[in-house]
Amino acid sequence: MAVETVRVLSPDRTCVQVDGLSGRRYTARDGVLHMTPRDAAALVKAGGIDPGLSGVTSASLGYRCPGCRHGSFFKRCGKCGADCEKEGA
Ligand SMILES: [Zn+2]
Repeated sequence: MAVETVRVLSPDRTCVQVDGLSGRRYTARDGVLHMTPRDAAALVKAGGIDPGLSGVTSASLGYRCPGCRHGSFFKRCGKCGADCEKEGA
């Protein structure tokens, strides 16, 4: 049975494992957790960030493309494909 998951950014990059309300344990990859919608909502309440709700990056979580200055939550620029630099590092 496929479980629908949503992406949530870990509230802390050093926090790589999170226990969801459902008892499921999630491991973050590059600061992104793939959680069931129910657990994701709980984590967002607890300080996680739903990428779908935010069009801009935060200083501690985002990446910035050196080429086009596009802000991204991912290392690869969504606009030009360049490798982005971590913001606030
Ligand atoms: Zn770019």
